[in-house]
Amino acid sequence: EEKEEETCSFTVPNYACQRRTQLHHHNPSLSDALTLLAENAELNEDDGRAVAFRRAAAVLKALPAEVTSVSQLKGLPCLGEHSLRVIKDVLKDGSCSEVETTKHSQRFNALKVLTGIFGVGVKTADRWIRDGIFNLQQLRESQTTLNRAQQAGLDHYEDLNQPVTRADADSITEIVQEAVSSLFPGAQVTLTGGFRRGKMTGHDVDFLLTHPEEGREEGLMDKVVSWLDSQGLLLYQKTSRNSYLESRDGPGRPSSNMDRFERCFAIFKLSRGQTSPPAGHQWRAVRVDLVVTPISQFAFALLGWTGSKLFERELRRWAGHEKAMSLSSHALFDKTQKRYLRASSEEEIFTHLGLSFIPPSQRNA
Ligand code: ATP
Ligand code: MN
Ligand code: MN
Repeated sequence: EEKEEETCSFTVPNYACQRRTQLHHHNPSLSDALTLLAENAELNEDDGRAVAFRRAAAVLKALPAEVTSVSQLKGLPCLGEHSLRVIKDVLKDGSCSEVETTKHSQRFNALKVLTGIFGVGVKTADRWIRDGIFNLQQLRESQTTLNRAQQAGLDHYEDLNQPVTRADADSITEIVQEAVSSLFPGAQVTLTGGFRRGKMTGHDVDFLLTHPEEGREEGLMDKVVSWLDSQGLLLYQKTSRNSYLESRDGPGRPSSNMDRFERCFAIFKLSRGQTSPPAGHQWRAVRVDLVVTPISQFAFALLGWTGSKLFERELRRWAGHEKAMSLSSHALFDKTQKRYLRASSEEEIFTHLGLSFIPPSQRNA
């Protein structure tokens, strides 16, 4: 008796914010290949292509089983010709020549190293490469003028490119908690970003600070930053004021994805006891982001700062395209009703958006 070839195929909803995406999934080699191409596109400022690869990778992360044949992918969203070609190659040969070529290209590696310096973006890195600077040693020898952030980034390059562990994050949480509760009784500290999604490591530690009484969060950032500084805990910090109310485009319609909260991009100095510094060192540097939000915007800020970046992007795309709403880390505006929709929890925001609630641990798109 002849057996028919069995291939089960998958179904996946269109938007990443409609899906549950665990940290660990069944198709890492496929998603890694696509993610590398996305990263390369980002480094070359080809945003359209970068998002296309990120969306394709996210679809693979959401599948309930390992893909063994491209035929299983028929009808899935977000898989364009280019991504399917990459997937086909990896399934057939275990690798894809475009990915391998990219991974070993001088430009890709130089862009990665240079943008790996805190404070250096793709435009700066690209300019340096055109000046013949491809690595840290060439940068150090070049007499290139660095701004304060870049200088700190270069000084602490090794530490800042070591993954931050969950234990480091917990230890920093304790420090920030201590500062906040001694200076501002009642104020709250919330760990967000990748660690809130359950990641075991990250490139930084992200916090939201708020106070349950609206307005009482004012002045919090300055006090916390001064306290941290006085304790010798800061190697670098740059604080930006809240510019939400002053902004021309007004609440809910920020001109970019950047929000307008008062924030602090910092580099913490963690001593032995607070972390495990590299062998022979007494301390290590760790990137920390602090963001202060009024309680009325807290749920939006929490949703916006928990990530993943693609999940956030998809939430905003869903809001705009499917619901005629505009979502930011500050607010949700309903363009049909011409009014802001309030929310005091993430659950309420998902409900306003007509989406099932996706818990943080399943936002790893
Ligand atoms: P990692 O573990 O590598 O730190 P992460 O998911 O925590 O990963 P971050 O770059 O720390 O990534 O960003 C966390 C979240 O905060 C993301 O969802 C991102 O959209 C949001 N975010 C980061 N920077 C800004 C910013 N300047 N304005 C608004 N939102 C931001
Ligand atoms: Mn982070
Ligand atoms: Mn961050």
